[in-house]
Amino acid sequence: MDSSMSVLLLAHTEPDRLLARPALEALAATQALATALETTFAVGFIGTDAGAAATQVGSSGPSRVLVACGAAFSQPRYATDAAAAEAICRAANAHIVVVPATSRWMRVLAGVAHRLGGCVDTHVTRLAASGNDVSITRWFYKQRIEGTVSRVQRPWLIALEPGTVDAWNGAPAAVNVEPVSVILPSVRTEVAGVRTPAASEQTVRPDADLLLVAGAGWTKKQSDGQVHIKQAEALILSFLGAAQASLGGSKSLVDQSGEGQAVLPFMTHLNQVGQTGASPRHRKGLATCCHGEEPHVVGWQFVTERRAVNLNPNCGWAQGKADVLYVADAFQVMAKVNELLASQP
Ligand SMILES: Cc1cc2nc3c(=O)[nH]c(=O)nc-3n(C[C@H](O)[C@H](O)[C@H](O)COP(=O)(O)OP(=O)(O)OC[C@H]3O[C@@H](n4cnc5c(N)ncnc54)[C@H](O)[C@@H]3O)c2cc1C
Repeated sequence: MDSSMSVLLLAHTEPDRLLARPALEALAATQALATALETTFAVGFIGTDAGAAATQVGSSGPSRVLVACGAAFSQPRYATDAAAAEAICRAANAHIVVVPATSRWMRVLAGVAHRLGGCVDTHVTRLAASGNDVSITRWFYKQRIEGTVSRVQRPWLIALEPGTVDAWNGAPAAVNVEPVSVILPSVRTEVAGVRTPAASEQTVRPDADLLLVAGAGWTKKQSDGQVHIKQAEALILSFLGAAQASLGGSKSLVDQSGEGQAVLPFMTHLNQVGQTGASPRHRKGLATCCHGEEPHVVGWQFVTERRAVNLNPNCGWAQGKADVLYVADAFQVMAKVNELLASQP
């Protein structure tokens, strides 16, 4: 085997100064890749300070822990993040660089690869090694075709999709840390702060166990000839709060706001699941008032257990797209479900 193959995990810390789950998943993938290549791996990260994160990954067995830490790296910013990533990759003399596909890294990776004279692949779901050959797996054409890619160009930066690998979960251990010096560029961007929606307004929760999908049926005339938007809103929000579920929507529903129809105010295009939307990863999914047409269901690729509530026994979910279809009125079903959730201790 090629013992000179150099593998690096490149991560960043969070405001709590630790590495978050996407970084620990990428660490597990890096560790497994290095084992398959019969080589060692280094860990590099950026952030405010090094101590807590280095200890967090200390027992994973890195050959080196390279850090670029300080106030300049406490906030995401292209110029400083790219400079630090480049310096760490050079210090590690890395051939393969595994990176968690966080928004912070996704913004700079192409630039870093260019500076290093290397290449980058994103949306990677699996890494493998055979002999000295490394290959990655990713989906193409909106999750319809899975392809395996191998490259000879080095360094090769590989952005691993969160949720595709079990996170590394070892005990903390003290480890030697090597600070990497970074030539700081002239910085023109000041990070003034972070604005996030109130927790109650946040409906997209990638970490949630359950995805609740709302379809256009919620805003359609019901058996009494009326629309019941306020009731739909209350039922959906109450369920999301009680189950801490993530909210997805069909294209028909999220498009309505642009078409001047009755809308659920918390539903945006960020919630859209499907061919022209997202393919979120959740263990369970529940579709309500959504027909289950193929362009929508293709976004359920990574949802393992699927259930749906629909008035129509011939809807798409009944055509083999769901494990269980409840032919029922979603207004009644969700009211009962919310009642049961509220009665739980
Ligand atoms: C190129 C292309 C890309 C597309 N991309 C996407 C995409 O990314 N995502 C996406 O979602 N769609 C996409 N579509 C559109 C897709 O084909 C469907 O039109 C869309 O998913 C329909 O949304 P819906 O099921 O919410 O609405 P509808 O088709 O209007 O279905 C509403 C459903 O609600 C049910 N219903 C009504 N009232 C109740 C009740 N009280 N209880 C239970 N059920 C009830 C009805 O029986 C019906 O089945 C795309 C289409 C094309 C052509």
